[in-house]
Amino acid sequence: MSHVVGKEAMRIWHPCTQMKDHENYPPVFIDRGQGIYLYDREGRAYIDAISSWWVNLFGHANPRITRAVGEQLARLEHVIFAGCTHGPAEELATRLLAVVPAGLSRVFFADNGSCAVEAALKMSHASWRNLGHPEKCRFIYLTNGYHGETAGALGVCGDALYAAPFAPLVVPQIEVAGPVCHACPCGKTRQTCQAECFGPMQAAIEANAEVLSGIIIEPLVQCAGNFHMHPPAYLSRLRRAATAAGCHLIADEIAVGFGRTGTMFACEQADVSPDFLCLSKGITSGTLPLSCVLTTDAVFDAFYHDYAEDKAFLHSHSYTGNPLACAAACETLRIFEEDDVIAANKPKIAHLQAAVRERFAGHRHVSDIRSTGWITAVSLAADPEKGTAFDGRERTGFRIYREAIKRGAWLRNLGDMIYFMPPYVITLEEIDKLTDIAFDAVEAVLG
Ligand code: PMP
Repeated sequence: MSHVVGKEAMRIWHPCTQMKDHENYPPVFIDRGQGIYLYDREGRAYIDAISSWWVNLFGHANPRITRAVGEQLARLEHVIFAGCTHGPAEELATRLLAVVPAGLSRVFFADNGSCAVEAALKMSHASWRNLGHPEKCRFIYLTNGYHGETAGALGVCGDALYAAPFAPLVVPQIEVAGPVCHACPCGKTRQTCQAECFGPMQAAIEANAEVLSGIIIEPLVQCAGNFHMHPPAYLSRLRRAATAAGCHLIADEIAVGFGRTGTMFACEQADVSPDFLCLSKGITSGTLPLSCVLTTDAVFDAFYHDYAEDKAFLHSHSYTGNPLACAAACETLRIFEEDDVIAANKPKIAHLQAAVRERFAGHRHVSDIRSTGWITAVSLAADPEKGTAFDGRERTGFRIYREAIKRGAWLRNLGDMIYFMPPYVITLEEIDKLTDIAFDAVEAVLG
């Protein structure tokens, strides 16, 4: 297939894409991947700076994961997960329960992040219903929060870009202004913060206490919602408030779990254990789709009953607990353990954060640089001093993304923000190369 252009040629409708852009920029045909690199058919290499939508941890075509999946493929590729269990799922449950915050004791599998969120919301409400509180059916979420794009997940989406166009299809939940730490209204720093901005959350919890099923949050980093980052103090306070109000805390660690924030799970930094923990993305190191919801005995027990119709959690996906995906996840967790990945990541994280600051701090169009663990985001503005954004029609971020592709880095923008979230196998030299490319791409557009 040659590089086709024009509407007629577009048989494939790509996600989160204005398809007309492909008239000028045909999709890059990626032929293979190796480590942190993606290769197109002409053999050009691109550093996968955003880990293929934040999923890849240990590099493309990772030999250990490839072997584990291959061995499983020869044994059992898939089986219905109602009434059956299998080795990879059993091992994965054991491995997960050994590393998640204490108190989580049950694992429910699904196959993508949005569906894990759907399952957690449904499970939360259904557990209250089973316990005689059907009125507990509302959820609080934060402005700028993002939890996926299925209809239920859009009900707790605090980013209008994704939610507003589908408003008539969605049951709206309760939005609360969350922390905006890069411009803290309380004048605090990360070090001095005691979650002084918690007022609106406390008020919303009190106003809705009777009907509240749970509060959902992306711990420490709101990724898709412009990389707003908050310190652990906010999360600790939220845990205490949820407990006091008698509602669930749902931690969506789909993006931040498995080491992205520097610890295995972001909740650890606040010494918090949620009632629900949603995981996906890095769980298979980006090899195969898999997600899960971990929860407590208290929630599990609310469904335990003699008759399915009465109290069972009637929710299923055909590919639930897929053995290949579970095998990839088991190998991912083995790598974490055997290679002491969380400790080994520390110098790389420090180097990445420093390298980005070195290149972008003080740049005339940089309004903010923020980092948590492996995630570093650079906000660009027409005039950072005056707080003037670029004209959206200039598509500044998109043009930088295209310039970075030309220079060999897959650095997909988020509006006028560029961010770095590379696979953990990147080397210090490759971090320097990536940040140089990013700088050159920014200069090519704004210089
Ligand atoms: N929650 C968070 C925090 C996410 O970042 C995402 C995906 N970006 C999702 C949920 C949805 O996951 P998926 O794309 O697999 O449906």
